[in-house]
Amino acid sequence: MKDTEKHKGLRRKLVEEIRNQGIESEKVLDAIDSIPRHLFMDSSFEHLAYMNNAFPIGNDQTISQPFTVAFQTELLNIEPGDRVLEIGTGSGYQAAVLYKMGATVFTIERHAPLVRKAKILLQKLHIRATIRFGDGYKGWPEEAPFDKIIVTCGASTIPEVLMQQLKIGGIMVIPVGEFIQKMKVVIKKEEDKFEIFDFGDFRFVPMLRNKAK
Ligand code: SAH
Repeated sequence: MKDTEKHKGLRRKLVEEIRNQGIESEKVLDAIDSIPRHLFMDSSFEHLAYMNNAFPIGNDQTISQPFTVAFQTELLNIEPGDRVLEIGTGSGYQAAVLYKMGATVFTIERHAPLVRKAKILLQKLHIRATIRFGDGYKGWPEEAPFDKIIVTCGASTIPEVLMQQLKIGGIMVIPVGEFIQKMKVVIKKEEDKFEIFDFGDFRFVPMLRNKAK
């Protein structure tokens, strides 16, 4: 559980790389700079933690590429105090970035072992996020509505339930598509009025229905 000077140096380089790729928000870059990504990865990948790549985290899932985390987070336009729902906890890294930016984080994961691991790690790092084992297609009705929703797996369509669980004025960032996903920003203008914008192509693991066996 160490965060050495070497890790910090590699992280600063990664932040510069992401900045050069077009991420402008200093708040997002600061959050990436402050979260020890190597602790969210299997120790066999630790030396690769500050490469700008996705990596396996078990259960056939991946921790997203740092640029993608930064890109989605920038699109969310997080304000301190925002109630944010994440679908796809995975390693807990994206949740940690959101917490660092001042969000109150609720996150859902369909693989129980990933939920267990993420809970333990975030607790050790003193990062507060409420993590639930469940199916993100159902959202989190007891905690809705949310200021922001971020989906970190590829959905075939935008789930209606998640649109309902957004506050008016709220923003959802969601990759949509079967093999390659378009990053979509959904803004809830009124109860039944949404504006949707496209932000380029990405590749995510699929958003699957129901909890894993
Ligand atoms: N945000 C993660 C990246 C996770 S990859 C991180 O920072 O590490 C996407 C995750 O979405 C996977 O762990 C996968 O199990 C999960 N997932 C896929 N479909 C889901 C669903 N319907 N509900 C909840 N989680 C889901």
